Formats: sequence, structure tokens, C-alpha cells
Amino acid sequence: MTPLAEIIAARIARTGPITIADYMAECLMHPTHGYYATRDPFGAAGDFITAPEISQMFGELIGLSLAQAWLDQGSPTPFTLAELGPGRGTLMADVLRATKAVPGFHAAAKVHLVETSATLKALQAKALPLAHWHDSVTTLPDAPLFLIANEFFDALPIRQFIRDGDGWRERMVGLEDDRLTLGLSAPAPLALLEHRLADTGDGDLVEICPALPAMVQQIASRIATHGGAALIIDYGDWTSLGDTLQALRGHDHVDPLTTPGAADLTAHVDFAEIARHAPPARHTRVTPQGVFLERLGITDRAQALARSLQGEGLAAHIAAHRRLTHPDEMGTLFKVIGLYPATATPPPGLDP
Ligand code: SAH
Repeated sequence: MTPLAEIIAARIARTGPITIADYMAECLMHPTHGYYATRDPFGAAGDFITAPEISQMFGELIGLSLAQAWLDQGSPTPFTLAELGPGRGTLMADVLRATKAVPGFHAAAKVHLVETSATLKALQAKALPLAHWHDSVTTLPDAPLFLIANEFFDALPIRQFIRDGDGWRERMVGLEDDRLTLGLSAPAPLALLEHRLADTGDGDLVEICPALPAMVQQIASRIATHGGAALIIDYGDWTSLGDTLQALRGHDHVDPLTTPGAADLTAHVDFAEIARHAPPARHTRVTPQGVFLERLGITDRAQALARSLQGEGLAAHIAAHRRLTHPDEMGTLFKVIGLYPATATPPPGLDP
């Protein structure tokens, strides 16, 4: 057992089975044994690799999309340039480099990062010395907000429910012979899932992310009041259906219950839930990441960068372009949703 498994088992022995969301929160954010709280999980030596770590082109193109949205809204000054869960700070650093030549953008931008992990805050401070940090979106300034979140919402704890008649049974983490196991609560009707009675049947599993509604409302209300735009990028689909909880360790899938705190735990993002909680800001339907990046000109940018590369560097660059955009890689699994004021032009790259 990992040290965290013993802590969680003791908690269950004391107070009974816990929700998957409580389990995920312990695994990811426990102050001394949590996955994000204790390490830098990114890159080849870590457990997974994210788009900004694959290629600088990802952050550059997102930066240009946000900068165009800022210009289209009349260059509001000053404004908040925010990122949720910035990891190593690579994406924001690429955004800032790519937007240097946009007149007035840097002078007007105040960089705000929302991050809970002290280890990752320290890494981000090296890449982004001038940023301001927040533990939650609630303290972001009341100002025009241009925001990015890449692979942030998939790290938020989820609860899982299985339809049973007009009620739901919740999947819970319990104990059997001193080992963590999954069980089901008794069925009960649930106001939270009222809206899913129409599109699910007996035995269907749906996931909800309890932290998502308030976070999206905080972002969307700033955008609706002061202007701005948010680009939220993650793996997932329009509506949650089926078990998407997964644990990754050393780039391999592992059982989510066996190594708490030592593996990354994620779930697919339900983009319909983001849209549902975003009004009064407007949103588009989701755009596949590959289509989004192609529309923003990733092929031209890739060719320009390729001119100064050769040999292994060139091969890695070509592979990175493919990895970000190809339907068999991240191109279709990852989606983008944009939030922006009802009267504004959408940030470029999104489906109309
Ligand atoms: N966006 C980065 C990192 C993604 S990993 C990239 O694309 O490489 C998820 C990030 O979200 C980590 O930085 C993690 O510490 C942070 N995070 C997870 N849950 C959070 C929460 N509730 N509040 C703030 N940050 C959180």
C-alpha cells in the first residue's frame, strides 16, 4: 500500500465509504502525499505529456487566437490574462512570446495563474516571474478576462452514478479485507441529475464534476460583464456517458485504486456542462483540437520552424505536429470550447 492508501483506508474504516470525488481529491491534492502536491508529473520522464510540452506551436497559436479576440473587442486596457492549472508554465510562456508583436497587448496584460500545488507554483514562478497566483478563480480581478485552461478540468474530481429506475446509485470507494474496492450506494432520486433522466436508461453511468459549475460561472460572469474570452481545451465530449475515470503512471494505464497519490487520475470533461453553466457568456459547440489548430495556421507555422531544423530535431518536430492535430492522436479526442460575450466576434479557430 502507498502511504496515502493507508490514510484513505483509515478514513473509510472510521467514517464509511467515500465518493470517487473525495477519493480523487485525496489522491491529487493531499498536502503531503497528493499527486500534484508532490511532483512535476510532466514530460518524458513523468507520467504524461501535455500539448504545450509537445510543441511550442500549441501555446503560440492559442496566444494569437486570444490576442485577436482582444483586438476584436477594442483592446480593453488593462485586462487579465489568466490560465487555470498552468503546470510548468510552458503554455503561458509561449502565449507571451507569440504575442510580443501585438501592439499594446503586453502593456495591457496582467498575468494571473490559478494553481493549488505549491510544487508547481514554484516551477511556474521560474517561467513566469511577473505573474500573480490564486488558489481559486473566485479571486481573479473584476476586469476583462482572457483565459486559457488546457487539461485543467479533467483533473477536477468527479462523482459517478449508475441509473436505476428513476434514481441513481453512486459508485463509492470502500474497504474489503483491508483493500480499497468500488461499491454502489442504495438507489435514490437526485435533483442534480434530473436533466439526465431524458437521455439515459437503466444501467447507464454518468459522471458529474461538483466543482465545475461555480468555476465556469465565475469565468463566464466576468466575460459577460467586462468582456474577454476563454478557451477551454481538454479531452472529452459534449455529454458525459460511461466510466472515463483513468489512472496514468509512467505513461501506462493502471488501476485507479491501487496506487493512490502515485498515479495521475483524470476523467473526461463534459463540455455540455460547461456550456450549461456559462450563460450569460455565449459559447460555441466544441471544435476538435486538430481542426482548431489547422484553422489557426499550424501547418504554416510548422513549415516555418522546420526550415531551421534537420535530422532528429526535424523528425521530432514533424511528429509533434502530427501528435497535436492528427485524428488518431490528439486531434479528435481533444476538444476546444470558447466562451465570449454575446455581442463579440468569437476567437478565431472555433466552429461558428
Ligand atoms: N495546463 C498544463 C497542466 C495540466 S495538469 C499543461 O497543459 O501542461 C493540471 C494542472 O491543474 C496542474 O497544474 C494542477 O496542479 C492544477 N490543478 C488541479 N486541480 C486544481 C484546482 N482545483 N485548482 C487549481 N489548480 C488545479
